[in-house]
Parts: sequence; C-alpha cells; structure tokens
Amino acid sequence: MEYRRLGRSGLKVSALSLGSWVTYSNQVNATSAREIMAAARDHGVNFFDNAETYAAGESERIMGAAFRELGWAREHYVVSSKFFWGLSEDPNVHHTLNRKYLMGAIDGSLRRFGLDYLDLIYCHRPDPNTPIEETVWAMHDIISRGKALYWGTSEWSADEIRAAWDIAERHHLHKPVMEQPQYNLFVRKRVEQEYRRLYEDIGLGLTTWSPLASGVLSGKYVGGIPADSRGTLPGYEWLRERLVNAERNAAAARLKPLADELGCSLAQLSLAWCLKHPQVSSVITGASRVAQVDENMKALEILPRLTTEIMARMEAACETCSS
Ligand code: NDP
Repeated sequence: MEYRRLGRSGLKVSALSLGSWVTYSNQVNATSAREIMAAARDHGVNFFDNAETYAAGESERIMGAAFRELGWAREHYVVSSKFFWGLSEDPNVHHTLNRKYLMGAIDGSLRRFGLDYLDLIYCHRPDPNTPIEETVWAMHDIISRGKALYWGTSEWSADEIRAAWDIAERHHLHKPVMEQPQYNLFVRKRVEQEYRRLYEDIGLGLTTWSPLASGVLSGKYVGGIPADSRGTLPGYEWLRERLVNAERNAAAARLKPLADELGCSLAQLSLAWCLKHPQVSSVITGASRVAQVDENMKALEILPRLTTEIMARMEAACETCSS
C-alpha cells in the first residue's frame, strides 16, 4: 500500500481506502462488513469512510462494532464521518450545517461508533441557509474539544471552500484540510479544473468518492443489472438509472480492451486512473464482498503501466459522457 499526506496536513492516509455507503446494513450484515474491513486492512488500508446518514446511523454502528471486534489499536486507523442530512425532519437538524446540529451530530456519531474521537469530519454538503462563519466556528470547536482531529467539506464549490479557509485564517481557527468530491472517468471537472487554484493556495487534499461510478466502471452493467449488485436494491431507483446509462456502459465496453491490453481488470484500470491525480490523497473504494477488495487493492500495481498515452486513450473512450 502507498500512503499519502492528507493535503498539507501531517496525516497519512492509504491511497486506497474503504467506504460504507449503500453497502453496510442494506447489502451486508455486521459479520460480512467486518470481513470486508479486515480484508482491506490486510491490504494496508488505514482509512475507513462513513457518514451519519448512511443507513440512518446503522452504518456507523456496524463499523464501530467491527473496530472493536477486530481489536485494532486506535492509532492504527483513520475513521471519518460526514454531517448535513441529519437523522430527523426537525428543521434545526435536517439539511443544515448550523451550530446546534453540528454539536449534536458529532456526539451522536461518536455514540454510534463507540469511539472517543473521529479522525476526519466532513460537512457533507454546503448549506446556503447557514453563514459559513457559523459552520467554521462549530467545526473548530468540535476539534478544540477533542472530538475530531481534522475537518473538511464534501461537494462544496471552490468559492465556498476558500471562504471557509479565509474565515479560519482570519480568526486563527482550525482550517478545512480536505474535500471529498466525486471523481472518476465520468466526473472530472471539479477536481481537475474548479479546485486547481486551491491545491497550491491552501494545500487542499482530496479523498474522492465513487471511483467506479458505483460499479459502472467495472463493466458489470454492460449486460444489464446483475442480481447481486446495488442496482437491485429497493430505494435506490434513482441510482439504477445511472447504472444502466447507455452512454456510460458503451464507454465501459470501449475501456475493456485497454484493461485486457494491460493485463488487469477494468475495475483496477479505472481505480488506477483516479490514483494518478497528484492531488488525490485517497481514493475511497466501495465493496460488498471480500473478492472485490482483493481485486481493487491491486489497482496500485497497475499505476506504473498507466502511461500518458494510455491515460489519453482512456479519457478519449469516455469523452462522450465525461464532464
Ligand atoms: P464505487 O464507485 O467504487 O462503487 C463501489 C461498488 O461497485 C461496490 O460496492 C460494488 O457494488 C461495485 N464494485 C466494487 N468493486 C468491484 C469490482 N472489482 N468488480 C465489480 N463490481 C465492483 O464506490 P462507491 O460509490 O461505493 O463510493 C465509495 C465510497 O465513497 C462510499 O462508500 C462512501 O464512503 C464515499 N461516498 C461519498 C459520497 C459523498 O457525498 N461524500 C457519496 C458517495 C460515496 P455491488 O455491491 O453492486 O457489487
């Protein structure tokens, strides 16, 4: 495994990490989740991503139980959660980054995990109805109280991230260290263009999500929806449409011969492409079984084979459906 600095911070995260979205509770029970996490750890993964909203808190409970049962020393893994959606419809704790919500959300998350502190906490989306200054102060206070170590954002615009950073700088507060954007062969603009100035100016680090576009970039949806995939889950109809998107699946079919040429799977090739971006601290993978972890972690071995020419051919194969 390769370990990369999380932006300009001193924290090192595994270049490939493991997240629990969709999967934990919906697809896998606590036992399978623990086995998947153990397999990832065996490959050197030290960063495990979660969010309050995943399976309405159940995902944090499952991951916390796995940490305990696996008996890992707390200093040997990095765990995150993300806040915004809230666990009830109450106007003060729903779709918000206000101080009241955030101060309660971290306590709820720690309770579900059964941990004293989280390593990384993210503002899961921007909140246009709360001043950024209020959110920055709340995130700073959570860190000052020892409940988390670093904070960042997810899917914030470059302007919003810069505004948060400037406020923190002005008031000598803990600054946002990392952003969690979607990044894969189909979704590129934010990471490659919008955030470009932030890498140098504020040392923003990235932990990126859906590297396989939910599995499409493994090629598994080219022939329809496999029965054992997230594409069959009730409640995920909105995702199903993306999984069977004709243009994306045609691109996956065009990529497959390239993977064959390099002697790897399409999933490995697609993950390796994400790892190539120099600002990506960690590519957060998803897996509903150990075999997927074993396959995906080998993406790092492909990196030396990913020449500029191969990258250009991959990007050309996805040109019609990439933004
Ligand atoms: P991917 O795009 O990598 O999709 C992962 C899914 O693809 C797996 O669960 C599995 O689905 C399938 N898959 C994985 N490997 C293989 C393989 N080798 N062959 C075939 N199929 C494979 O990542 P996710 O969409 O899961 O996102 C990763 C993480 O990013 C999440 O867990 C979460 O932590 C984070 N995230 C953050 C978001 C944010 O807003 N900040 C939003 C979304 C995700 P299946 O079970 O169907 O086989």
